[in-house]
Parts: sequence; structure tokens; C-alpha cells
Amino acid sequence: MEFRGDRRDALKSVFEQWVQRVMEATEQRMVPQRYLRPPGALPELGFLAACTRCGDCIPVCPVRAIVRAPTEAGLAAGTPYLNVQVQACIACPDMPCARVCPTEALSAGVREGLPRR
Ligand code: SF4
Ligand code: SF4
Repeated sequence: MEFRGDRRDALKSVFEQWVQRVMEATEQRMVPQRYLRPPGALPELGFLAACTRCGDCIPVCPVRAIVRAPTEAGLAAGTPYLNVQVQACIACPDMPCARVCPTEALSAGVREGLPRR
């Protein structure tokens, strides 16, 4: 019986690795360019699905580190990202960008108990 359990675990591991590879390949096809997201962002595919492109996180950044992806960015067009060559994120302790986000696209601070604005 132990053998069956080991075999099931091995199959599960192979399946999980396959799913991971498919997800990475899909992500690479859909979003060929990598954007550095504000802190607390979901993994990229989830972020793209959850972000409404409302832009609310952009003006609340005290150092204006968040900018909007251009229209040529395909699926990522209009989403917020950090252009660290111009301005780095200073990792605000209260994470205003995540607190103002109306969806779970940015949410690390919210998960840690910070109230939304
Ligand atoms: S943590 Fe602060 S500095 Fe960093 S992106 Fe969010 S608001 Fe801007
Ligand atoms: S506030 Fe949230 S939903 Fe709106 S643009 Fe920023 S990440 Fe996307």
C-alpha cells in the first residue's frame, strides 16, 4: 500500500510540474515583456485578470514610482508598474498603493490587516 501512496505522490508531482510549465509558457506568450509591479501584486496572470486599470494606485504613491503601461503593452496596457530606472519604490510601511486598490490585484498590506482607504 505504501508503494501506491509513493506512486500517487510521484504522479501528483509530475502533474504539478507540468501545470507550472504550461502556466509559464502561457504567461510568456500573453505577456512577453515583464513589468515590475507595485508591492503586494498578485502573480502576473492573476494580476492582469484582477486589475481593472482604474489607475487609483498611481496618484497615491508619494514618490510617483508607479506609472501606467503603454498601449503597445498588449494585455498589460494600462496596468501600473514601477519604472525603477526613473524612481524606485520606497516600500511605504502603510502601502497606500495596495490600500487604495479596489480589487485584490494589489493586496499584501490589506492582507496584513491595514484598512482600505
Ligand atoms: S509602496 Fe509606496 S513607494 Fe512603493 S509603489 Fe506603493 S505607494 Fe509607491
Ligand atoms: S488600483 Fe488596483 S485595479 Fe486599479 S490600476 Fe492599480 S492595481 Fe489595477
